[in-house]
Amino acid sequence: MDDGLGTGRLEVVAGPMFAGKTEELVRRVHRARYAGRGVVVIAHAVDTRSGTGRVASHSGLEIASSTVASAAEIPGLVEPGTQLVAIDEAQFFGPDLVDVAVGLADRGIVVVVAGLSVTFDGRPFEPLPALMAVAESVTKLTAVCAVCGRDAAYHVRLPDAGAADGDALTAVAAHVGGMETYQARCRDHRSR
Ligand code: ADP
Ligand code: MG
Repeated sequence: MDDGLGTGRLEVVAGPMFAGKTEELVRRVHRARYAGRGVVVIAHAVDTRSGTGRVASHSGLEIASSTVASAAEIPGLVEPGTQLVAIDEAQFFGPDLVDVAVGLADRGIVVVVAGLSVTFDGRPFEPLPALMAVAESVTKLTAVCAVCGRDAAYHVRLPDAGAADGDALTAVAAHVGGMETYQARCRDHRSR
């Protein structure tokens, strides 16, 4: 995918929950490590599903990570010689992540950002749409609809999972959860 003219680039992996975004991020991290690249993996502190200090997929894949509470902390973790920075659950970092990711790519680093492109009520979920706009590569993944098995570009929060309103942090934290809280849904089944 590299055009050979420069090393810095931004790669986005986006989609709903259960689409395999984390699996794809982990795959790219493993490939970079096999190639001897210096890699930094970043997770957000709000994602406590698998405990801090690792990035984990729904299928049980996991890799060690640094955990930060804001996008501004990311550049401080990128030591000289780092060639790939992988950031999972990008939606938790908010709009500040765009300038941070672009800044790292401008420094010659491959930045792989994985995150939710939609909220559980089916709206675009920043900063993924903005990151997609400025990336060299966008991989848009779908999950499997929990109702009919078709491609699912959405996910829904199940009715007995509790209220999700409140302040901004509460709203973001409401996007932390697994199969007991959320289901992947296709276009036809996202609201019923
Ligand atoms: P994401 O990071 O996009 O939420 P993960 O990489 O953590 O996704 O997990 C993807 C894995 O989730 C799949 O390989 C599969 O094992 C599992 N999975 C569970 N439910 C679904 C579903 N409805 N559609 C697709 N994969 C699912
Ligand atoms: Mg994930």
